[in-house]
Amino acid sequence: MSNQHITIQDHINGEWISQRQLPSAPLYNPSTGAIIGEVPLGDAAVSKAAVAAAANTFPAWSATPLPKRMDFIFAMQAEMVNRKEELAQAIALDQAKHIAEARGEVQRVIEIIQMACTIPALIQGESIQGIAQGISGRIIKAPLGVFCGVAPFNFPALVFGWFIPFAIGTGNTFVYKPSTESPLFMQKVMQLLIDIGLPDGVVNVVHGDREVVEAWYDDDNVAGVCLVGSTPTAKAIAEGCGRNGKKTMLLGGAKNFLAVMEDAPMDLLIENVLMSGYGSAGQRCLAVSNIACVPEIHDEFVERLLAASKNVTVGDAMNPDVFMGPVISANAKARIENYIDIGIQGGATLALDGRQPEVTAENKDGYFVGPTIFTDVTPCMQIAREEIFGPVLSVMKTGCIDGALRMIKNHPMGNGACIFTQNAYYIEKFINEADVGMVGVNVGICAPHPYMPFGGIKDSLVGNNKVQGKAGIEFFTQNKVATIRVVNPRPADSTPAAQKDSNVRSCVAS
Ligand code: NAD
Repeated sequence: MSNQHITIQDHINGEWISQRQLPSAPLYNPSTGAIIGEVPLGDAAVSKAAVAAAANTFPAWSATPLPKRMDFIFAMQAEMVNRKEELAQAIALDQAKHIAEARGEVQRVIEIIQMACTIPALIQGESIQGIAQGISGRIIKAPLGVFCGVAPFNFPALVFGWFIPFAIGTGNTFVYKPSTESPLFMQKVMQLLIDIGLPDGVVNVVHGDREVVEAWYDDDNVAGVCLVGSTPTAKAIAEGCGRNGKKTMLLGGAKNFLAVMEDAPMDLLIENVLMSGYGSAGQRCLAVSNIACVPEIHDEFVERLLAASKNVTVGDAMNPDVFMGPVISANAKARIENYIDIGIQGGATLALDGRQPEVTAENKDGYFVGPTIFTDVTPCMQIAREEIFGPVLSVMKTGCIDGALRMIKNHPMGNGACIFTQNAYYIEKFINEADVGMVGVNVGICAPHPYMPFGGIKDSLVGNNKVQGKAGIEFFTQNKVATIRVVNPRPADSTPAAQKDSNVRSCVAS
């Protein structure tokens, strides 16, 4: 796959679009730095054309019987199983996620779609009889129209799964904008959706940057916008959509803590910190970044972590024998290296420097940063406050669990936090008091299973809507309420009972 020039295309109303008149951006293989293709940079006109196609398709799609719609969701899942390796290779190429993790991401999406397969059970409405004489009430879980979704670079598959199966399964149509840095997965999945016979216009894809998204804010056909991305982007979309009364589901950035208690199971801890801190080269919204460790175990932990981190191998994301792939871009590498400088200048001790890690000659131009560890970090240092989004760990000392919980509470972000301990009191206290949306106990990555909701609090979630689980289904439906009076069509009995009942007039339109 890596030798061919990849032309990423928009897909609108059942057609692949070649946008020769629009500019494009190069598509890189971050493992080598080579240009492997190009991505069109859509403008407002292209974006609005995709929304118009989705809006035109909405009446027919929402009227499609639910079992028929579900046939497509089941087929999507089955075909993803069949194409798992091809899809994983796509993620490992342009996003340069390590191939083993890319396979894991596709497997996770398959499980997310399992959850979407429960839509028929979960969108059943409710009804109540006898609100007044001859009057009943009914709640219908109705679709809303066109939803639009924006993906970050780091989880091209997962975010597709969080949005599209739930949105279209519940009867909406969709316009999707992948990240320009990792569009290949969606190109492959769009072909998959065509192959399973999904009707034209149900899912449309437009590539590009913020111009594509900003065109949705004042488009009357757009019911809602969802994003997984950084907090500034989530806030910008909240503002644009808020002005125009659109529904939003906006997952933002993260800075995750891991608390190490004196009885932490050390082997398990080290293994999990490595997976969490260096997996996906630290570019995970649930990656551990700040480690708060109690004094009893601090020195042993740092020594073990340093020794294990020095053995972490770095190289091509397609190479199953290395532990860690590159970061996404030259810019990302420069940003992470700048944070390493900031950490040093801020007074932290650089215990392991990941700049210029050893890689093979074929990967010399790739965007690599090796495992990096700061010790003697304090919670108000810039490296402890800001999202670095790379394989950089900050180890801090805390006197006890209350100190760790205070650090978590005082941090503006609140995605996830984990604790390593065998003490039931600590576990319960941490679950109850950690000021985040997702908590982990003796796990390094506290990602909830797709059957449960996923999302943080504070600056990690803008608004109140989480993805996955029942929450994912809820977002894409409205609770439409009908108040129903059935009138006897026979003239002799046709006077509505309610008209005879003065109490009813006060609360029900007559
Ligand atoms: P980003 O915010 O730069 O971009 C995300 C998407 O938004 C891209 O498709 C981009 O084109 C678009 N975009 C950028 N600026 C925009 C603007 N002003 N208006 C409208 N759209 C805009 O994020 P990224 O660098 O691609 O991804 C990394 C970020 O995503 C990190 O902050 C990470 O924590 C976050 N993330 C969060 C979760 C979560 O579950 N909370 C999951 C994955 C990633």
